Order: sequence, then structure tokens, then C-alpha cells
Amino acid sequence: MDKETLLSCRDVSLGYEGHTVWEHLTFSVHSGEYLCIVGENGSGKSTLLKSLLGLLPPLKGVIQRSDTAGAVGYLPQQTQAQRDFPATVSEVVLSGFLSAHGRRFFYSAAEKSQALMHMGKLGILELKDRCYRELSGGQQQRVLLARALCATQKMLLLDEPVSGLDPKVTAEMYALIQKLNYEDGITVVMISHDLNAALQYASHILHIGDTVFFGTKAAYLNEFPQAWQKGGNDGDL
Ligand code: ADP
Repeated sequence: MDKETLLSCRDVSLGYEGHTVWEHLTFSVHSGEYLCIVGENGSGKSTLLKSLLGLLPPLKGVIQRSDTAGAVGYLPQQTQAQRDFPATVSEVVLSGFLSAHGRRFFYSAAEKSQALMHMGKLGILELKDRCYRELSGGQQQRVLLARALCATQKMLLLDEPVSGLDPKVTAEMYALIQKLNYEDGITVVMISHDLNAALQYASHILHIGDTVFFGTKAAYLNEFPQAWQKGGNDGDL
């Protein structure tokens, strides 16, 4: 059976008024895939992300999201003010349901139990009554991942989810994301500058920069066999 197309960009131009960042960008994401969008700083990852989230309309072409894709669970990069957010872990996780609420200001029993389930799955259940701002960076990222899961059944959009984490916590975070993809079939779209990790975990790579590539990881390695060595040092592009 063909895999369902959740997201597709066909010959899309992206950018800002008077400044085109991307032309002729074509790629798609199917159910169950794990796409890493990699590129150097300034290559246009944030611009693409804003467009995928529907915050920045394409200059040309359309970005299509299938009706069945549902809401995207988004894990943003955090500002310092967000790291200091004075709420409990449960409150932060539950807020993942808010965008689907419309005018409703309370959480249903089903939502509360789903939130607990996501916290359990991500190993943060015992932190549920703790204050979010008192947690370590790695714990905070798990909380944000649980929050993103509350918003989606299908697709996570993760913006540099391991940024600022030490190597051990980074590996744990990548393992959790891989588990959500493998075991729960959640489609993952991750923005990253860590090519090494992208080559380790992703099924597909979209490389934006001087060279543009979109395809499977195997096709990427076939075209850029030196990529492993490059990524092998510290992984950064
Ligand atoms: P990355 O996330 O890969 O570091 P960005 O998407 O932030 O790259 O930037 C890509 C290009 O778009 C850069 O040349 C940047 O200067 C430009 N750019 C980013 N934001 C804006 C904006 N709001 N208005 C105009 N140009 C922008």
C-alpha cells in the first residue's frame, strides 16, 4: 500500500518581501518517515520552518498538508524567557491541547489522561507537579516533546531539539524521538545542523545550502559518500 503523503512542496519559492531565500524547492513527507532538514546557519531552515507551519506564505507555489495529517506537534527552540516559564510540568504539557480547543478553556478527562500517558512514555511522569523552570535543559525538552505529542497523532515538527544539551542527554533525546517514530509510527520532521545525527536517525534528508538535495538517506550517502567523515568529527555542518 502506498504511504500517505502528509506534506508536499512542489517547486515552491520561499522568502520575504523583496528577498527570495528558496526557489524551486520540491520535497514531500509520507506517513512514518523521519525527515531531517539540514543546512548551515543562514541557509534558510527557519524560513522553511515558518512556511511549513503556515506562518509565512510561499512567494510562489503551494505547500500542501493532507487533511488527514491533522495538527502538527511543534517543538520550538526556546528563548530564555520560555525556559523561565512559571508553570508546572503538567500545565506545560496540557497546553499542547490548546490550539485545538477554540473557545474551550478547560481540559477534558481524556486529555488529562493522554497527557499523563505521554509524560509516562517520555519518562517525566514523576516530574508532573514540578515547576518547569526548575528543570534541567534535557528534562525541559522532554516536557516540550510531551506537549507536542498532545497536539498531534501523526506528525512532529522539531526545531533543533537537542540544542544546548550535553552529549549524553542529546543521545537520550534522539533515542526517544526514534522510538516515537519506530514504535508509534509518528512522522518526524526535524530541523538540525547536526548532519551526523541526521545520517544516523533519519529516513530522508533535505539538505539546503550551496547544494540542495532531497531523498533517502541511502541516496544522500551515495551522492555524498564523504558525508560520514564530515559528520564524524563533531557532526556540525
Ligand atoms: P537558518 O535558519 O538556516 O539559519 P534563516 O531562514 O534564518 O536561516 O535565514 C535565511 C535567509 O533569510 C538569511 O539570508 C536571512 O538574512 C534572511 N531572513 C531571515 N529572516 C528574515 C526576515 N524576517 N526578513 C528578511 N530576510 C530574512
